[in-house]
Amino acid sequence: MLDIKNLSVEFNDLNGRVKALTNINIHIEQGEIVGIVGESGSGKSVTALSILGLLDENAHISNGSIIYHDQNLLEMNVKDIQALRGKKIGMVFQEPMTALHPTMNIGQQLIEVIRQHKKVSKKEAYRLAIEALKDVHIHHPEKVAKQYPFELSGGMRQRVVIALAMSNPPELLIADEPTTALDVTIQSEILNLMKELNQKKSVSVLLITHDLGVVSQLCDRTIVMYAGQIVETGLTYDVLHFPKHPYTEALLNSLPDLKQQDQLLEAIPGEVPDLRYPPMGCPFHSRCKQAMTICREHDPKLDICEGNHYVACWLRRDEA
Ligand code: SF4
Ligand code: MG
Repeated sequence: MLDIKNLSVEFNDLNGRVKALTNINIHIEQGEIVGIVGESGSGKSVTALSILGLLDENAHISNGSIIYHDQNLLEMNVKDIQALRGKKIGMVFQEPMTALHPTMNIGQQLIEVIRQHKKVSKKEAYRLAIEALKDVHIHHPEKVAKQYPFELSGGMRQRVVIALAMSNPPELLIADEPTTALDVTIQSEILNLMKELNQKKSVSVLLITHDLGVVSQLCDRTIVMYAGQIVETGLTYDVLHFPKHPYTEALLNSLPDLKQQDQLLEAIPGEVPDLRYPPMGCPFHSRCKQAMTICREHDPKLDICEGNHYVACWLRRDEA
């Protein structure tokens, strides 16, 4: 359904040119939930914004294509891509307030979105709005429909945003850190909700997160990004249980073990490389405990290591 091929994106900022994405390949099938995980600055959000046609003006797509049902989104005009965003590709961002109208109540906002896409009376649209709120497990939908965004908690607002996105189910929902601002219990409820909507309405989801716990709960497949590149990808189970890339291993080691609340976390020493001056060789080499001479000189390609499991690391090149 969605096929990102060899996508490279650069930004011009005051200090120079930043290589935000280098040769990204991502494929999403109908009904699949795919997670992109990485630290901030790894290129996850830039990937999402590229699909949505929402990159900043100083961004430049230097290579690649984003094929959505035989159409290259990168060649579409602004109007068509806007239409696609409303209808076929939905979005959920970290801060639900940005997606909500501050001075319209929840019911009005849902009715408006529903009537943009369906020719129904106001009364019928209201009935559908209440259904949409029930679908996201809001217990007093008639009451919430009368409320304004500022009257709701963060978790409730994110439910409403999902209800809005689902009231005309898109084919693909792109969610960028949708639960990062929420506390853990609410986070888990919102993730379950997304799973439920994926199953009931067979919406594909591209979930962007810095949190491996989130991908493990929700995603069929996981893509690990580092410094604007994909360093590992495979079925979530394989990536989390049999990580092949030292960066994925380091991310897993920095996850809190829920059974041992007060253990010390192993933070990943060192810093993400400055993408104005991308390092030679493997982008992770300055932080990698297993770096070898070749790692400082040549960038390993993403290569198949087993079944659908791919990794970009010189340690693994003989395992294929
Ligand atoms: Fe570490 Fe080398 Fe693998 Fe990069 S290629 S992750 S530096 S071992
Ligand atoms: Mg981000």
